[in-house]
Amino acid sequence: MLENLLHQEIKEKGPLSQSRFMELALYHPTHGYYGAQETVGQDFTTSPEISQVFGELIGAWAIDYYEKLGQPPKLSLVELGPGKGTMMADFLRMAKVSPSFAQALNIYMVEINPLLKSIQQSTIPHSLNYVEKFEQIPENDSPIIIIANEFFDVLPTNCYVRKENVLYEKCIDLQDDQLCFTLIRRIENKGPDQTWEESPGTLRLMKEISTRLLKQKGAFLCIDYGYEEGSGDSLQALFKREPSQPLSHIGKSDLTCHINFGRLREISLLHHLGVKGPLPQGRFLKNMGFGLRMEMLKHKNPSQKESLEIGATRLTHPQQMGALFKVMAVFSPASLLPIGFEE
Ligand code: SAH
Repeated sequence: MLENLLHQEIKEKGPLSQSRFMELALYHPTHGYYGAQETVGQDFTTSPEISQVFGELIGAWAIDYYEKLGQPPKLSLVELGPGKGTMMADFLRMAKVSPSFAQALNIYMVEINPLLKSIQQSTIPHSLNYVEKFEQIPENDSPIIIIANEFFDVLPTNCYVRKENVLYEKCIDLQDDQLCFTLIRRIENKGPDQTWEESPGTLRLMKEISTRLLKQKGAFLCIDYGYEEGSGDSLQALFKREPSQPLSHIGKSDLTCHINFGRLREISLLHHLGVKGPLPQGRFLKNMGFGLRMEMLKHKNPSQKESLEIGATRLTHPQQMGALFKVMAVFSPASLLPIGFEE
């Protein structure tokens, strides 16, 4: 069905940009991957689904920043793309150690998937406000803490190639009535031969987050896979937990691109915000006391020792998610440094 739509659009308008292709494949209201299905845990699994310690330590991170902000009576807590709600449920369990923090929270979930929304509501024992876009969160005078785990990587991304001073765009076209990737010549463009990506939605959202942090104070914790100085073409597809071709299983496979932490940092600095990281996820979790918390859990649940250890290794080992995933914090005021970023 989605394939037919793509064929039709290409026939009418010519080759599609990669971001238009991702937009239809991921967000078509009835056939897109994030449209209606329960995606998380089917084609991919995420850190909060691997270990409860992940969400708990993010809770501890947020409590620390709340205390640094002088324990404001109200605090907006935002999660971008909360999946099954596991991270937030673990976060809120940790929040109980600081009753004033738990009391101050007004939670906003930025989610478009109706099925995941209902799963989140049954997982999270707290009242939740829902919006589909970050900018719909009402502005107020209270500080704001924003968390995003594996959110930016789904936002539609374009890919460009410069070869011999000519700029090409990676597009999706038809050849013998089959969808294929192709490079479309755009303009003369002086510079070294290079391939790079740009995600207009990511830049827009990062500007909104930065403006909000500047106005309201607070912090943003972004956890994802990505690079700091970007070159390359990182579009990838996962179908039933296996890598697949982005043009097969359209609307049925998860499509992601690595995120450009360097661009996020640039935007934050332009807004005079503080920035820490990106730091490998393994390092960040260890800095936050991952080892100690794991030991406590193993002590309390001796029968689960082995599975707890497997989860711990997956999240922190450099050859697993420990180095592939990175953590970056953006905060305001810039002088108020968050914990967890010791190198
Ligand atoms: N953070 C979760 C889930 C990551 S999957 C975890 O770590 O387990 C991406 C999540 O973002 C899903 O909940 C998906 O429905 C949601 N999502 C994807 N694109 C979105 C968009 N443009 N706006 C709002 N939510 C989106």
